[in-house]
Amino acid sequence: MNQNVSLIFEKSRPGKRGFSIPEKHFSDLDVKALVEPNLLRKQSAELPSVSEPEIVRHFVTLSQKNFSVDTNFYPLGSCTMKYNPKLNEDVARFEGFAQLHPYQPEETIQGALNLMFDLEGALKEITGMDRFTLQPAAGAHGELAGMMLVKAYHDSRKDFKRTQVIVPDSSHGTNPASAALFGFSVVTVKSDERGRVNLAELKKLVGPETACLMLTNPNTLGLFEDEIQQIQKAVHDAGGLLYYDGANMNALLGLARPGDMGFDIVHLNLHKTFSTPHGGGGPGAGPVGVKERLVPFLPAPLVDKKDGKYVLNYDIPQSIGRLRSFYGNFGMLIRAYTFIRRHGREGLNQTSRDAILNANYVKKKVEKHFVVPHAEFCMHEFVAQAVKQNDLGVHATDIAKRLLDFGFHAPTIYFPLIVPEAMMIEPTESESKETLDKFVDAMNVIADEAVDFPDRLRQAPFTLIISRPDDVLAARQPVLTFKDYQAAEHLHLQNQPVGVPVHVE
Ligand SMILES: *Cc1c(COP(=O)(O)O)cnc(C)c1O
Repeated sequence: MNQNVSLIFEKSRPGKRGFSIPEKHFSDLDVKALVEPNLLRKQSAELPSVSEPEIVRHFVTLSQKNFSVDTNFYPLGSCTMKYNPKLNEDVARFEGFAQLHPYQPEETIQGALNLMFDLEGALKEITGMDRFTLQPAAGAHGELAGMMLVKAYHDSRKDFKRTQVIVPDSSHGTNPASAALFGFSVVTVKSDERGRVNLAELKKLVGPETACLMLTNPNTLGLFEDEIQQIQKAVHDAGGLLYYDGANMNALLGLARPGDMGFDIVHLNLHKTFSTPHGGGGPGAGPVGVKERLVPFLPAPLVDKKDGKYVLNYDIPQSIGRLRSFYGNFGMLIRAYTFIRRHGREGLNQTSRDAILNANYVKKKVEKHFVVPHAEFCMHEFVAQAVKQNDLGVHATDIAKRLLDFGFHAPTIYFPLIVPEAMMIEPTESESKETLDKFVDAMNVIADEAVDFPDRLRQAPFTLIISRPDDVLAARQPVLTFKDYQAAEHLHLQNQPVGVPVHVE
């Protein structure tokens, strides 16, 4: 295998070049006069020798091995993998934005500040909050900011006993993680048989030690927390705050606002709801909005308008401090702003309506073959279960892997944790009925295969260069280069291939 791998992957051959400079220019070049002698290499760099077409083909082929929303349907529940309009990219590349330097004086970046000011305004209107920081670089980062705000608020009132953060058992893993990371103890509230927060249980849990409740609505089962008014009252009456995980905001645009539901702090995932691209760890943007009483604690700077000019306001004495260098992932702010302006009020509202319609359509169509534990009307996503298939020795993993052969990204599986063999499907508004029908057909074919050819499912996928890597090893000890691969062979980690065909049919 080693030899084959080298032949497939190692394209470098001594003497090949991807460029040519006339010999004359080389000899004229006095490198030593241009570069400090102590900075010169002692030995030449170990670079691959390949021609230009070879290197272009290499990288373009690698890019095609990746799943992306630009090539495939990507119903990864809770992640809102919607299409990223190319207009967003065009605007982010405007020279006036792309060529800015973060240290430029305020007078020269009025356009950028204007965009941040207006984006904040739009987010306030969408969520019903009073002010936003645009700094956090991801949803989880926003959650951490939120936890810092919660503590700053209680501390400012000399209320030091509030050490507990309550999360539902259906919550996204980042919620308890963010709370614990910042030093809160995490208390879990159970879901009831309707898949909602168990209100009676919550009432028993809240008290003088409650710092806040973290909640996403609709929850990760795709169900609207219809008792949100009672929930917020229970927490507020006990002196706690409410934190809204806005990763599921794609269900609510123009339909309902967390600010109106009584939430005190909100984060949004611009990279989900507002179509800035994500995957592979970033870059994202997780702005955090707060109600008036929490504004004094927001990170500095905020963008304000004074005498007709936009200014960066660093004068926030009770601020929790800076959360990120400069002003956040500015390129993502541009993309989200473009999406919001392009759609407008009506368009954003239609976005959520279409996302909900698509989820309900797919749910209805797969119900015949897959158990849907909460069969009622869902919001932008739903959870199905591979429990009938489980009896045949086929698991959610196998179905997810087999979907790849049909050209679909897998749904989110085994999450939320409270649903056995969960497959969480979020189609988003981007998809046509034709795409949804093809996906449903694939799901139903796979359900038949589970009966007739369960072994096939256990070995899928067959069409991809990597079949079933060891998930844990792949995350803990990723092998990302050919050199790493060669080194890994000695450690018997060959199951971590770099673009190596291990299972092609
Ligand atoms: C995606 C997601 C998060 C975390 O957001 P990141 O930007 O990935 O850090 C939190 N909560 C829910 C419900 C999510 O879907």
